[in-house]
Amino acid sequence: MTGGSVQAPEAGEEQERIALGVDLESRVLCDVDGGRPGPLFLILGGMHGNEPSGVLAAQRLARRLADSPVPIHGRILALAGNLEALRRGVRYVDRDLNRMWAASELDDARAGRDGDGVHELVERRALLAAVEDAIASAGDRVVFLDLHSTSADGAPFSLIGDTLANRGIAFEYPVPVILGLEERVEGALLEYFGERGHIAIGFEAGEHTRATTVDHHEACIWMTLAAAGAVPKDDPFVAECRDRLRAATHGLPEVVEIRHRHHVDPEDAFVMLPGFENFDAVSKGDLLAQDKEGDVRSPEDGRVLLPLYQGQGQDGFFLGREVRRFWLGVSRVLRKVHLEVLLPLLPGIRRHPERPRDFLADPRVARLWTVEVFHLLGFRKCRPIAGKLHFSRRVESPLTASSR
Ligand SMILES: [Zn+2]
Repeated sequence: MTGGSVQAPEAGEEQERIALGVDLESRVLCDVDGGRPGPLFLILGGMHGNEPSGVLAAQRLARRLADSPVPIHGRILALAGNLEALRRGVRYVDRDLNRMWAASELDDARAGRDGDGVHELVERRALLAAVEDAIASAGDRVVFLDLHSTSADGAPFSLIGDTLANRGIAFEYPVPVILGLEERVEGALLEYFGERGHIAIGFEAGEHTRATTVDHHEACIWMTLAAAGAVPKDDPFVAECRDRLRAATHGLPEVVEIRHRHHVDPEDAFVMLPGFENFDAVSKGDLLAQDKEGDVRSPEDGRVLLPLYQGQGQDGFFLGREVRRFWLGVSRVLRKVHLEVLLPLLPGIRRHPERPRDFLADPRVARLWTVEVFHLLGFRKCRPIAGKLHFSRRVESPLTASSR
């Protein structure tokens, strides 16, 4: 199917579904150069093959731009992710394509040393070439939008690495912003762009097969293009998109920070209790799931995100907690004055001997609020090194003008 038959549902038709199994002739879903100066807007749909919604939304974008042209600044390029998994309607064939973008693996992929026998290596080679071609012509002015959906129901939300440039776009959407998810997931494509100092935003638009999920993805695409100046902000369709997202997220927190990830291996026999939706509030000790060891209970109060209701995947669920916007304002000021220069004065904290952007913290000495302080100052928590906490300063995009 091409997705051409999916329409925005009328009121009362929220149960309308889209089908899995999207056969695409080309990875390129939309490619429009406006001929006016501006960044590269790189949109990816279907990184997971059971998430066709982003592909359908990108096809809608192509049709709308063809039918009713608007002045475009920069280039809009939308690509499909895992073509074979999309065709089969599964998350992946052999390996999760969104866990294959760590720098060390990509060196092997570029050199042709990444092996074979795993279908996703083929997809990664093609996608990496397409992405790096596009970036090469855009320089450092790139906005990346990664479109996903969830196996659970619930409101749409965005996920970002906490840079001021990412905030500048994500806070334009009237949906919750999730911070810190990418710190708990290794090798996601979002981090590939983040490490290079590009604006990089993930958008989870709803349950995989709901027609409204396509509507949310379409709205997110247009709001991103408007927020970053690719299309006019006063375009009436952009206002319609904002209303669409606002109606879907009423009453939810503005910002949630991830504090816990429940890792799942296939042999765990993990089964999430039915009925959880994204943003459901839970208390410490609440029963969330069962596995071969018995009950899986919530380790703290918070909100459930991305509960696993599909066979494939290693994230059982995440727990997050609301962050007040006040703290984001504080952190913006601290970053602007580069307060991180004082970090080496604190007990137990020193610079990484080889990486100037990185710090190491001895958890036995620097105990109170260490992670929180580094987050405020714009650092990402990385894998520990020899028992030390490891933090790396996030790279800001030069496109930070509208940041907050
Ligand atoms: Zn996904």
